[in-house]
Amino acid sequence: MNSNLQSKKDQLLDNLRSQGITDEKVLEVMAEIPREDFIADYLRPQAYENAALPIESDQTISQPYIVAYMTQELHVKKNHKVLEIGTGSGYQSIVLARLCKRLFTIERHMPLHKSAEEMFKKFRIYNITTLFGNGMKGWIEQEPFDRIMVTAAGEEIPDELLYQLKDGGIMIIPVGGQEETQHIVRITRHGDNFDVKTLLPVKFVPLLSGIVHSS
Ligand code: SAH
Repeated sequence: MNSNLQSKKDQLLDNLRSQGITDEKVLEVMAEIPREDFIADYLRPQAYENAALPIESDQTISQPYIVAYMTQELHVKKNHKVLEIGTGSGYQSIVLARLCKRLFTIERHMPLHKSAEEMFKKFRIYNITTLFGNGMKGWIEQEPFDRIMVTAAGEEIPDELLYQLKDGGIMIIPVGGQEETQHIVRITRHGDNFDVKTLLPVKFVPLLSGIVHSS
């Protein structure tokens, strides 16, 4: 990495700390992963700005603060089996995979699903299993999960996902339509009860059903 990008990266990590990201393990994995490799060449100079950036298929790689915040609030442990909905660029997937035992990730856009798989190979990450499909239904063959992270905004919280959480499990999901204020919500399962806590206001691309074969 050139020294200019490196100093922007150091600055960004300091910013995350001052914005309340205190989980050193989350900061450590974000320090290790080159975000510039997950975006188009022309965007490389912006890789360490604290902003969402466009990726293929009209989607976005989330803002670094939001990646850090959602990961921190998910309380991922090394023995966890985690489900991610919305593989996108694969950046958030790698952050999660470095912190958990096994990550399952679902994407509904074929070009993104394919390029993320390439990234996982390139970075020699072998604890990620990918699926091209509609993540709103979860992954019935692999449930239950200790943790679920959804990286696209649902108009509501999909019930099918809730019931794929283990007892005591946690799910983080942005909730709200495109025209309204969305919020990150954290749900903790206690048997058949779900404790719902509203966290930050955010702006995410929509969680949609169905699959898309080309860009
Ligand atoms: N975590 C990603 C963020 C990508 S944006 C990253 O770090 O780059 C959200 C992604 O969710 C998009 O790629 C979008 O196609 C995907 N998505 C939206 N609805 C989905 C669904 N029902 N199932 C799977 N993926 C979905």
